[in-house]
Amino acid sequence: MNTSDKRMIVRPPRKIMWGQLIPYIAIHLACFAVIWVGWSPAALIVAVVLYVVRVFALTAFYHRYFSHRAFKTSRIVQFLGAVAGNASMQRGPLWWAAHHRLHHRVSDAPGDLHSPHQDGLLWSHMGWFHDRANQPTNHKAIRDFARFPELVWLDRFDFAVPLLLAVFLYALGDALNAWAPGLRTSGLQMLVWGGVISTVAVYHVTYSINSFAHWFGSRRFPTDDFSRNNWLLALITFGEGWHNNHHHYPNAARQGFYWWELDISYSILVALSWFGIVWDLHPVPAHVLEDGQLRSNPSPVGRA
Ligand SMILES: [Zn+2]
Ligand SMILES: [Zn+2]
Repeated sequence: MNTSDKRMIVRPPRKIMWGQLIPYIAIHLACFAVIWVGWSPAALIVAVVLYVVRVFALTAFYHRYFSHRAFKTSRIVQFLGAVAGNASMQRGPLWWAAHHRLHHRVSDAPGDLHSPHQDGLLWSHMGWFHDRANQPTNHKAIRDFARFPELVWLDRFDFAVPLLLAVFLYALGDALNAWAPGLRTSGLQMLVWGGVISTVAVYHVTYSINSFAHWFGSRRFPTDDFSRNNWLLALITFGEGWHNNHHHYPNAARQGFYWWELDISYSILVALSWFGIVWDLHPVPAHVLEDGQLRSNPSPVGRA
């Protein structure tokens, strides 16, 4: 799609889904419950583990696998990756990947649903997914995965996994409180740390790629958008911060193109490939790597 095609896409008027926005605000306010429930090493460990697992699931599965088919895996691992991504409360795998594919088609042009250059940083960060027009899953855009009934089910009942996780966290904290009171945790404390604080952290780390990674950082490749490479975002998102690399060559399993560009998700994928859990990790072509190394000066911004 060329630039003139991109400019023809017109967005319907915005309608905020208040029934969805209010719980979204509530989960942020619930972080303050930490004042009453306190903390414990056990709750902190659970929060960190859930952060790591869910950020990896979003980057490796929701993004690189479902959106870009950057590697292959079995149907069961595909499902487990989808469940883990779904646990981050960012809708189902088909919804997420279908919207992300659209982002690549019209990145930073008027049809882009979350471009900070079209609608501002706040909208790109956490406004666009409260818009009524962006609620349905466009199955045509994700036909390759919409043929799996288990993924369609997850996508349709995208509240099921987060609900089960919340119940599990409460039960875990409650059980530890009864069986190992020395850990000084409780059902509510585990729910606040694992289900609320960790989830809010995963939210904003993920959203920062849509907002900040199209604004702050360097540009190695002269892509047709405003995507940036940002080492800090790459660190907290496990590799997604190499976003200019990614927009230049989206189908690669790695987004840090060189050894000095830390890409934790890619390292984990490589480790999983040693055990045959994933395979056919799509490489970055040699000519792209060589071209990138020749570009020592920042590349111009694609579209003004
Ligand atoms: Zn982008
Ligand atoms: Zn992408």
